[in-house]
This record gives sequence, structure tokens and C-alpha cells, in this order.
Amino acid sequence: MNITVIGTGYVGLVTGACLAELGNKVFCLDVDRNKIEILNSGGVPIYEPGLKEIIARNRASGRLIFSTDVAASVAHGEVQFIAVGTPPDEDGSADLQYVVAAARNIGRHMERNCIVVDKSTVPVGTGEKVKAAIRAELEARGRGELDAMIVSNPEFLKEGAAVEDFMRPDRIVIGVEEGAAGAEAREVMRELYAPLNRNHERILYMDVKSAEFTKYAANAMLATRISFMNELANLADRLGVDIEHVRKGIGSDPRIGFSFLYAGTGYGGSCFPKDVQALARTASEHGQELEILGSVESVNDKQKQVLLKKIVARLGEDLSGKTFAVWGLAFKPNTDDMRAAPSRVIVRELLQRGAKVQVYDPVAMEEARHAFALDLADLPGKEADLHYAGGAMEALEGADAVVIVTEWKSFKSPDFAAVKAALKEPLVFDGRNLFEPVTMARLGVEYHAIGRPSKR
Ligand code: NAD
Repeated sequence: MNITVIGTGYVGLVTGACLAELGNKVFCLDVDRNKIEILNSGGVPIYEPGLKEIIARNRASGRLIFSTDVAASVAHGEVQFIAVGTPPDEDGSADLQYVVAAARNIGRHMERNCIVVDKSTVPVGTGEKVKAAIRAELEARGRGELDAMIVSNPEFLKEGAAVEDFMRPDRIVIGVEEGAAGAEAREVMRELYAPLNRNHERILYMDVKSAEFTKYAANAMLATRISFMNELANLADRLGVDIEHVRKGIGSDPRIGFSFLYAGTGYGGSCFPKDVQALARTASEHGQELEILGSVESVNDKQKQVLLKKIVARLGEDLSGKTFAVWGLAFKPNTDDMRAAPSRVIVRELLQRGAKVQVYDPVAMEEARHAFALDLADLPGKEADLHYAGGAMEALEGADAVVIVTEWKSFKSPDFAAVKAALKEPLVFDGRNLFEPVTMARLGVEYHAIGRPSKR
């Protein structure tokens, strides 16, 4: 099929590359010239395992092209995917300006009927807004006989495993309109996803609004599990209970399961924070508060401070003269995404309290530089106290303690003798519970984790 993907961010780029890999001819459009230039010169603007190879292979075969040419992009695709950002507006609702702009562009240039698939995470009712925006442009052009069939196909990929998730989805949610147009769109989507749907039925067909809602419900549920475990971990800290035992004890119940039960420094990233807020906003707009979500959010905000509280309890309010190594900056492993990463709160607070900070992340260093430049703009001079280390061990050199914020595999079994030798004191604040307190005590490391009593 000829497919257009609008937006070459984490979702659009993975979608476009993977659909090309499945044999489609894919035109990827972005308004960001810089991104398109990088892609057209063989680079990849984001880090996502396996993506570079797929892009290279499909560019070489001519099945994948990148461009800023809006008219050409609309002319290309019988199916047009919208995969642009839906950032939070000031009131927490999803800002739909990019989605609507993409829809208008389709209406401005389309010369035949097409299917418009919304992959961005959008509030219930956005499908209707997209349809209306396209119709308005068509009518303005005197081409009211044309029509766009609207599909909601929310994306469930996880950054860091996005290619794998796209190619082996748990489920593919397809929301279609009622009537003949919906039935036709459903057939086309079934055909498009057939290669991913071979051994058992993974496609869930539904109406557009239910599909839109499903995405928010999924993210809100996952965020709720995280905040719930974080609250339990904080209580475990007071009670001398080990949250890791509790996690295993409850996760082994199949009604609960093990996923998303890890206590930590709070969720971040581009999705959970904004999607929880947007769903809460939708609810209040409709006169039905989702009380749980307010708590999920406030627990998460507090959780980003938990490591700091432990640091202050151990080393005092004033951290001037102290140096901290921070291992892990991205909001989770295997990505360079720094959006709403807990590391941003932690690094800023350490600097504000007078400390020097030596940071290291296996892939997010460049993104981190941009993020910290923004975060520290109102703290003149503080950037000078932030050092970007060339490696995990380098970050430790002369530090008073190491603070682990992201659970990269490469941090999971360090050479503790070397860690102890590099640090001024063997002091570890672990926001991801990577190690066993008993082992740390045996190694002579003072270990502060989340919801796990320290051993001596
Ligand atoms: P992103 O910010 O990485 O990328 C969005 C891209 O769209 C940018 O490159 C931007 O330049 C481009 N863009 C904006 N307006 C455009 C227009 N009119 N025409 C063409 N390009 C345009 O965003 P993302 O992380 O890929 O997320 C996209 C959507 O998918 C969001 O709604 C998000 O909530 C959802 N989503 C994201 C993830 C994830 O893990 N990142 C997972 C599932 C769903």
C-alpha cells in the first residue's frame, strides 16, 4: 500500500519504518526540516534499538522516503497516518493544534478519498474534529464531493522496545466510523496489519471514541499501578518492610501480575504525565471527576523527591561541598527521551542545594544537555557545577555518593571494588532497587533504596 505518515517522532518514525519493512511504500512527512535533513543524510534523530537498521534498509530499497513537502505527502498515501505530538495545554488538556494542522493539510491537498488514521493519543471526540477540519478545507476548495474516512488506531509501543512492540503487538486497536465508510476502512486496516496478525487475531475493532478512550485508560491504569506501588514503598520504608518481597508476593497472583509493580523515583516520559492529566481534564469537563487520577499524579510528583529526601536525611539540607554522581538520565532505559524524566528534578535540586553533579547516561547525554540547559536557565551559574562524564566510572571519580536514577542494564552489575575506590565514601542512593541490601552490606557499601531497609 502507499502510506503517508505525518510526524517523524518516536511514534511516526517507528510506524513509518516498520510499515515500509512490511512491504508498503511509505512517505514520512515532518515540518521539522532539521529532522528530515538528518533522516535524508542517513542519520536517525532519536535512539531506538533496531530502528537505524530498518530505516537504512528501507531507504535503500526506495520504500521509505522523508520529506517536508506537504502536497506530495497527501498525494502519496491512500492511508494517511497522523502521528504528531499532543502535548499538554496549560489546563492539562491535550493540545490538538498539531493534529488539527495535519488534518487541515490533508483537506487542503487531497484529490481522492482517503483513510485518515489517528495514531496520536487524542481525547475522545478528536476523530470528529479531524473529520470536520478536513471537510472545512474541502468545502473551501469546492471539493465537497471528496471524503476522508476516519480511523482511530492508538499506539501502544514502549520507547526502548518500540520496533519490537510494533512488529509483535499484544493487540491492535482499530476504531472505525459507522456505516459503509467504516466497513471499508476496517477492511483496509485489516489488510495493512495482516502481516502482524497471522497466528492469532490481535485486532480489536471498535468505534472511534472507544478506541480513543482505550489509549488513555491503558496509560492511566499503568500510571496508577506505579503510584500505588510507590506509596506502598514509602510506607514500607517506615515499617521496615521490604517492598521487593511484597512485589513478588502480590505479583504472583495472576489477577495482579508482575508488570508495572516496581517502586522507584516516579514515572516520567512524554506519555504518562500528560495522558493522566488529559484524561482527568476530560473527566472534569464532563462533570465527573476521576478522583484516583488526581492522587496518581500528586503521588508521582512527590515520588520524584524521594531520593532527595533520603540524601538530605543522610547528608543534611546544605549539600555545598558535596559531589554526586548520577547514573541514568533518560526517563527509562533504552531511550534517549528526557521528557519529564525524574533525573531532571533530582539534578536540579542537588545543584540548587549547592552540590556539584557528575552525570552519565549511556545514550541520553545529548538530549540531557538540551534538557538541563532549559531547566537551569533560571539558576545562573549552576550549569558550571554540572559535569557531563564520558562514562559511568568517570562520573564516580571523587564523588561523595552515587545516585542511580535509570535502570540501564550496564549499571546492574558494576565492579563494586572499582566503585568503592572511585567514590570518596561507599554511599549509594538507588532509585531503581537494582541491588540486594544484604549484598551491599557484605560489600561494605552503605545502600539506600526505595522501600527496602538498609542492612548492616
Ligand atoms: P514527537 O514529539 O517525538 O514527534 C512528533 C513529530 O510531529 C515532531 O517531529 C513534529 O515536528 C511533527 N509535527 C508536528 N506537527 C506536524 C505537522 N503538522 N505535520 C508534520 N509533522 C508535524 O512525539 P511522539 O513521542 O512520537 O508522540 C506522538 C503521539 O503519539 C503523541 O500523541 C503521543 O502521546 C503518542 N504516543 C507516544 C508514544 C511514545 O512512547 N512516545 C507512545 C504511544 C503514543
